Amino acid sequence: MSYSCTSTAYELKCNECGKRFGNQPLSACPDCLAPLEVIYDLDSARGVFTREAIAKGPANIWRYATLLPLPKGFEPDLPVGFTPLVKARNLGRRIGANHLYIKNDAVCFPTLSFKDRVVSVALANAQGFGFDTVGCSSTGNLANSVAAQAVRLGLKACILVPADLEPAKILNTQVYGARLVRIDGNYDHVNRLCTQIAEEYNWGFVNVNLRPYYAEGSKSVGYEIAEQLGWRLPDNVVVPMAGGSLIRKIRKAFQELIYLGLVEDKPVRFFGAQATGCSPISHAVKQGWDYIEPQRPNTIARSLAIGNPADGPAAAKMIRQTGGWAEDVSDVEIVSGIQELAETEGIFTETAGGVTTAVTARLYAHGRISSDEITVSCITGNGLKTTDALAGHYQQERAVRPRLADFDAYLRELDGVAEPALVTVGGN
Ligand SMILES: *Cc1c(COP(=O)(O)O)cnc(C)c1O
Ligand SMILES: [Zn+2]
Repeated sequence: MSYSCTSTAYELKCNECGKRFGNQPLSACPDCLAPLEVIYDLDSARGVFTREAIAKGPANIWRYATLLPLPKGFEPDLPVGFTPLVKARNLGRRIGANHLYIKNDAVCFPTLSFKDRVVSVALANAQGFGFDTVGCSSTGNLANSVAAQAVRLGLKACILVPADLEPAKILNTQVYGARLVRIDGNYDHVNRLCTQIAEEYNWGFVNVNLRPYYAEGSKSVGYEIAEQLGWRLPDNVVVPMAGGSLIRKIRKAFQELIYLGLVEDKPVRFFGAQATGCSPISHAVKQGWDYIEPQRPNTIARSLAIGNPADGPAAAKMIRQTGGWAEDVSDVEIVSGIQELAETEGIFTETAGGVTTAVTARLYAHGRISSDEITVSCITGNGLKTTDALAGHYQQERAVRPRLADFDAYLRELDGVAEPALVTVGGN
């Protein structure tokens, strides 16, 4: 790809006290410890970030480069994102939704989760700041994506994960040759350790010292949804939450599009989805809290298992501001959600997508979303990475001899028919 990206001027700003920090690898304000946010000179994007200019860009997230924080001279190497937005007619019929869409990041390039978006932006900045080693604390998908993309850029990678991660996610990291360290603890332990390592070793940790830049990559989901709906905003968005970043950034993307006049202003309600076994944000939303009570995760949805989410308070507040809601579902419901999406739409998602699908169904069932509204359900990861979640649900069938009579008998057995069905032979 020879596509040169030009960003609008941007810098880091403290969400709490408003202090500005220029651009540096820093995730929190030293004064008030609040997360830092990338802000842009939005007005200078007028006339540049237009529907027409975007349409001329490549079919990946770099078509939105004007509003992504990318260092000068950055040339993208990978065609990340621009995943399908599909109308979910079958699932919709089943759950009473007439205008339900699936944003399908189960097929995101290159590592089959939405994390490819955030990692590509983070690594652009890692290079910009001159780091030669990058890393992350990960619940799985982030590890896969950092490992794969670091290879392409010639960066060394050191990745830390909780020891009990799914085997497929561990293998999917090791195969790229990254150094993988399993930590005897949960994600929150891993994350704390990474903060210390980043300082000690001067490494670029995508979700620690590069976090503000990393998080901006999630805005691409919002831009794509709006563009794929024909430059319209939906009424509702249902988003899985781990750290609480993705859901906020989709909203930020919508607000930027409104500000620049690419879409008509309209209220969009945001709905957060979590697993009951790790539901600090949905719990806060339900309680009306503006703080998060950390939890000890215990769920099969490991990619969402962050007990003390960095952007949790902001996400909970934002959800309520938009008139949305948050729900959480049990592990049994998560498995049903995976099966339901696969059986209706032919999309095999991981546990996080099972969470989102089950929560979406519940929001319709409880009347929080009504059937004629336009709703986008964000599927963020691929089922091939969490097949162990389905262990015991499907049997290995016995082998049938390669003869038509055996096949006939086998089908009758499966269908529970004792006698051979009446078959007309000859067919005239
Ligand atoms: C990380 C992750 C999320 C949640 O992202 P946050 O921005 O941390 O809330 C959702 N789905 C999948 C599959 C993920 O890997
Ligand atoms: Zn501050």
